[in-house]
Amino acid sequence: MNIELINTGSELLLGRVLNTHQQWLCRQLADRGYVVTRQVAVADTGADIQQAVREALGRADLIITTGGLGPTSDDITRDLIAQLLGCPLHEDAGMVAHIEQFFAGRHRVMPPSTRVQAMIPAGAVILPNPNGTAPGLAMTVAPNAFRGAGRRSLLVMLPGPPRELRPMFTDSVVPLVTREFPLADEFVCRTLKTTGIGESVVEETVAGPLKALTDTGLELGYCARTGEVDLRFVAHGMKGAALVAEAATISRRLLGAAVYGEGDDQIESVLVQLLTARGETLAVAESCTGGFVANRITNVPGASAVFLAGLVTYSNAAKQTFLGVREETLAAHGAVSEAVAREMAEGARQRTGATYALATTGIAGPTGGTPGKPVGTVFLALAGPRGTSVLARVNRYERETFKFVTAQQGLDLVRREAGGGK
Ligand code: ATP
Ligand code: MG
Repeated sequence: MNIELINTGSELLLGRVLNTHQQWLCRQLADRGYVVTRQVAVADTGADIQQAVREALGRADLIITTGGLGPTSDDITRDLIAQLLGCPLHEDAGMVAHIEQFFAGRHRVMPPSTRVQAMIPAGAVILPNPNGTAPGLAMTVAPNAFRGAGRRSLLVMLPGPPRELRPMFTDSVVPLVTREFPLADEFVCRTLKTTGIGESVVEETVAGPLKALTDTGLELGYCARTGEVDLRFVAHGMKGAALVAEAATISRRLLGAAVYGEGDDQIESVLVQLLTARGETLAVAESCTGGFVANRITNVPGASAVFLAGLVTYSNAAKQTFLGVREETLAAHGAVSEAVAREMAEGARQRTGATYALATTGIAGPTGGTPGKPVGTVFLALAGPRGTSVLARVNRYERETFKFVTAQQGLDLVRREAGGGK
């Protein structure tokens, strides 16, 4: 099966917007057994979009376009495709009502230009957009004159904003694609998410013990990302589910607490869930991560049940004032030290009453390193009911990645202390 993705938008080619649809849609499709065969990004000029769609119709069973369904003058995908296929557009009364309600519900006046989004090509199926005004559209092109006699293709148009596209894809496009293009045999895909160990260690740990399964059709994939490694299992056919389940069980046993979750889990959401279930709380005292740990935790819905406080104590004075770090400790060991990390965590725990307090202190660079404490040196301390432990790391990255990786290590430290992965 040929699947082609056409991302429209001049902003993608000017480098103003990262084409996250490409990654997200390819991943969503692949995890369901549909692999995208070709992807292209084009400017939103009429000629470029029409040419890309025409070419894709010449090859593909399923074509997905993104962007250009909105009300502005550069939103021309719907018109161009209708024109290419010779389909007249008509105004859909239900869509007009949806758009009117959308604005009324937000106490906003409906700009007249938004009405164009209710124009639907003849024969198109409307994909509802609860998060915006522009509906998605799905059209069966049959016969597909661009591809030859007797061939048909499905053309799906999705809106540009990710918060509109993603739920629409999951709720409307996935059911449509699985109905229109049932897989020849069963497809099972599962991803274990690990942190704290490198890609080669993951492979060395599981590849041998899983050999019997890979010999009988299990596909193994490793994907290293900053601070984490994904382990992906894929299998086809009747025995697929059993193969993948067995592989996951074996790998979880071998990798132990390094596995923090599955699928789309993030370490911060796993941690919030874990602490909520245990009725425990967390505070953080951050120096080198500058609030990034608190930011990641508070991105999780429901974080308020477990997260008590985040203190960004960047200067020595702030460490003393807000956490009670002692002047002697700072003078004797320096702000980036095991001793200071320990006092930061213990001070935060004592002052907030949290079950756990995590502290970070380190040298993000690019300057400030010494032979004894090179750039990237980090101390992470965790104070909890069982005492205080300190982890020393050297995270040699540029500043933003340094903060992300250090936050990841901190979140993982709390997760493991709170019994995660057991
Ligand atoms: P709107 O009604 O907002 O105009 P639209 O369907 O017309 O929606 P576009 O105008 O193409 O979509 O894009 C709207 C916004 O969505 C872009 O400014 C960009 O922020 C985001 N966006 C579009 N395409 C992508 C993409 N491929 N990856 C990530 N974000 C995208
Ligand atoms: Mg637009």
